[in-house]
Amino acid sequence: MKADVLVIGAGPAGLALAAALCDAGLCVGGVAPTDPTTPWSNTYGIWEDELPSPEYTALLGHRWSDCTSYVGGQALRLERVYGLFDNARLQEHLLERCLRAGMRWRRGSARLVEFTARRAEITLEDGGLMQAQLVVDASGHTPVFVRRPLSSEIAYQAAYGVVGAFTRPPVRPGQLVLMDYRSDHLTAKERRTEPPTFLYAMDLGNDRYFVEETSLAHVPAVPFALLKTRLHRRLAHMGCAVAEAEHEEYCLFPMNMPVPYLDQPVLGYGGAASMVHPASGYQVGAALRLAAPLAQTIAHALAAPNASPSAVARAGWKTLWPQERLRKHQLYLFGLRTLLSLNEAQLQQFFAAFFHLPVRYWGGYLSNTLTTAEIIQTMAYVFMTAPMPLRLVLIREALRHPDFLLHAVGVQSSHSKILHIFR
Ligand SMILES: Cc1cc2nc3c(=O)[nH]c(=O)nc-3n(C[C@H](O)[C@H](O)[C@H](O)COP(=O)(O)OP(=O)(O)OC[C@H]3O[C@@H](n4cnc5c(N)ncnc54)[C@H](O)[C@@H]3O)c2cc1C
Repeated sequence: MKADVLVIGAGPAGLALAAALCDAGLCVGGVAPTDPTTPWSNTYGIWEDELPSPEYTALLGHRWSDCTSYVGGQALRLERVYGLFDNARLQEHLLERCLRAGMRWRRGSARLVEFTARRAEITLEDGGLMQAQLVVDASGHTPVFVRRPLSSEIAYQAAYGVVGAFTRPPVRPGQLVLMDYRSDHLTAKERRTEPPTFLYAMDLGNDRYFVEETSLAHVPAVPFALLKTRLHRRLAHMGCAVAEAEHEEYCLFPMNMPVPYLDQPVLGYGGAASMVHPASGYQVGAALRLAAPLAQTIAHALAAPNASPSAVARAGWKTLWPQERLRKHQLYLFGLRTLLSLNEAQLQQFFAAFFHLPVRYWGGYLSNTLTTAEIIQTMAYVFMTAPMPLRLVLIREALRHPDFLLHAVGVQSSHSKILHIFR
């Protein structure tokens, strides 16, 4: 197979980009170990205002305008509409755009990539060869080709969930619970010594619900066994239990993988390009929204005379990770680092302050639509409205990890110089 672009992986990121590349008029090939129509088993949630265009609303299987977070002893109403994708419809929509352009998918696992001046060649596990001018690695959080700096402290989001029927409704009719950090079902010792977790839950209609005990981020990942026990204890405390489980979700992915090297000749996308939002773990919205502008960049770079795989990949990396997004990412990493240092009580106070902000700020923070200055403003608002003991913890964290903040405001070199003087 020879193509302009070869996409590795048929998850949400791979399909979103493949569809956008096809829309851009490029000849696109794809490879994945299973047929790209194989159902995705993860439940993918998204804020409705993050959808790239109104036509995507039809791809949501469920929508909630009654959204709540229970934090710091308060039930906070979230003035935003949340949705859950109908995965089959989303896949069909993206694949239909691929098929319309004549894109072909090959079944296989990419194993090796080699380059000449003008082309990249992929060798598959079965020995098959595929060529293209650009290879996009969308093979997930542990990418097959994309390289990133090593990091010793990867925080994982972990969750255990059940879709099914319950002996009593775990949430009120039509409700989505984004975060329920209430922990009366735990002992004081457990609250003090074990990692904090929250309930993510929703009414799916027809007496079906999805409930998931979630650890937002922890190093190392919170074990599934603990999450499962916690979920059942929480449900028992609420006076309900699983009556019939249709589906169990085991969720585990990294929240703060380093940004990949931006000069490598393979372009990454999705989990492979560290596109997970470090504050929430969400990524599907970004993969859908960035696909079209990235496809335009790629089409433009491919049209240049003597376009080489590395030149096209570099143009793509620049669009994915421009300076402004890199700066914002540093702030999000700082935010995550701070959250990791908080105990359960502090975490609840933090989120209470966060969700009390106007939706423009907390929503923009979670959807990555704020400018660097607005993110700093959001952080400052949280700081100013937090109780004094929490403020002291936030100051301590800022002093302990100044690098993220200094990177974000672009004064990394002077900071390094200061450190050098002290050494
Ligand atoms: C259970 C769960 C729930 C989540 N819920 C949400 C959510 O609600 N909202 C949200 O925004 N994010 C969510 N995420 C986070 C993130 O969006 C997902 O992990 C998402 O699936 C990442 O998409 P991706 O396309 O980058 O990778 P993946 O979905 O992992 O897809 C990778 C693809 O690459 C293929 N592949 C792998 N290796 C090779 C190879 N060598 N050759 C060829 N193909 C290969 C795989 O078979 C697969 O098709 C969730 C994650 C999990 C695990």
